Amino acid sequence: MHILVIEDEPKTAAFLHKGLSENHFFVTIASNGQDGAYLATMTHYDLIILDVTLPKLDGWTVLTEIRRYNKKVPVLFLSACDEIQARVKGLSLGADDYLIKPFSFLELLARIQSLLRRSQSHIQEPQILRIADLEVDLLKHKATRNGQRLDLTPKEFALLSLFMHHQGQLLSRTLIAEQVWDMNFDSDTNVVDVAVRRLRSKLDDPFTKKLIHTLRGVGYVLEER
Ligand code: CA
Repeated sequence: MHILVIEDEPKTAAFLHKGLSENHFFVTIASNGQDGAYLATMTHYDLIILDVTLPKLDGWTVLTEIRRYNKKVPVLFLSACDEIQARVKGLSLGADDYLIKPFSFLELLARIQSLLRRSQSHIQEPQILRIADLEVDLLKHKATRNGQRLDLTPKEFALLSLFMHHQGQLLSRTLIAEQVWDMNFDSDTNVVDVAVRRLRSKLDDPFTKKLIHTLRGVGYVLEER
């Protein structure tokens, strides 16, 4: 389960990162509204925790932006202001729940689990994703092309899953680095090129039809051409 936390206060962000990681969630932190909105609309998350008061874009605007692209991802609002108006505004813009700071981590965890249960009973993510003759079974961690099993390392499988979730979308190297390696935006992204090359050697090289395409200097896209 992957949670995006959009929170500018370093202490709260660190507290959430630590607590959620310890509870086996994969956590990405965005420290301003702009980065948060960008990540939320570019990538699949199972849940988003969103602070109201944020630099660059406030939580209301971020939420409106998220809902333009994604009606379903559960969004939990965090705010210091406990006025009823703020709560009503968040819920009317499409937040699923609302928590007032300061909150106990256990309460947050209970809310998260309830939101995830609700969202999963509605949308069952497909277990098998397909493109052309490539089939990726997310539960069994198995990928085949033309019925032939591909022997992938866990990182290669994670990379392939990311591509499969975003078929036809351009994925920048920094985004891939962030999602698959949990690295910062400024980190060296050469590791991405190396990993994509390895994945291609198994996924594309033995076959006539290529599925991973390069946009030089920008990133990669998985699609049928
Ligand atoms: Ca804040």
